[in-house]
Amino acid sequence: MADRALFAPLFDCFSMFTDSHCHLTFPELRAELPQIRQAMTDAQVTRALCICTTLEEFADVHALALQYDNFWATVGVHPDNEGVTEPSLDDLLGRGALPRVIGIGETGLDYYRLGERTVADMAWQRERFRTHIRAARQLAKPLVIHTRSASADTLAILKEEGENGSAGSAGGVFHCFTETAQVARAALDQGFYISFSGILTFKSAQDLREVAAFVPLDRMLIETDSPYLAPVPYRGKTNNPSYVPYVAQQIAAIKQCSVEAIAEATSLNFDTLFRP
Ligand SMILES: [Zn+2]
Ligand SMILES: [Zn+2]
Repeated sequence: MADRALFAPLFDCFSMFTDSHCHLTFPELRAELPQIRQAMTDAQVTRALCICTTLEEFADVHALALQYDNFWATVGVHPDNEGVTEPSLDDLLGRGALPRVIGIGETGLDYYRLGERTVADMAWQRERFRTHIRAARQLAKPLVIHTRSASADTLAILKEEGENGSAGSAGGVFHCFTETAQVARAALDQGFYISFSGILTFKSAQDLREVAAFVPLDRMLIETDSPYLAPVPYRGKTNNPSYVPYVAQQIAAIKQCSVEAIAEATSLNFDTLFRP
């Protein structure tokens, strides 16, 4: 959490930013929640979606959404989480139907940390992903998708489960996007939105900025993925939702439009996708 006194709001006029992905129940943010909420107000970040990564964590995530009318919750088990409760379809359907739960995830595939294992060994991860997709489709709520070093399988499994953008698709968002324009094109064609995080502001991320130039503004979301991935000028520090305007500012520079236009478009897209 940055010192509030250091935070200067980026804009004089009124904008409304939505952080579509944050982990406020993680201890480093939870302990600072009152200060974070004040920083969000100061930065005109009016809403945030609190993302669940284990069933064990869900009650805490959901409690935030019940307590604050500008927070919402998801339910899901992150593909990197092992040694946690494996979610059944009924686990996800029950929690996913609760008030203020507006998405299923984060879920997906992550082959980045295979270690000694092969992709074939990750069948459990693919099965977990399929369970989430089935829950999302039954509930007609969008998926929050995490994919790393696994984009081909992610897209293929979504398609096999019927997620091709046709009627009956749950849809959703590829969060913290770091893939190629080709993967973005495929995800868009299957009906998904693309969300960019603070990575977009990193000096080394020129390729990703080119992807952002390619993604249409009406299919784009912004997020912090806090506490991780703080945007420049806070890179390396603990991230929080009040920093999401820096992601919007970077997209505005790429799209050559005002940051207010990015705030408005990404908030509207959030409404269209998640129907909060
Ligand atoms: Zn993720
Ligand atoms: Zn996340």
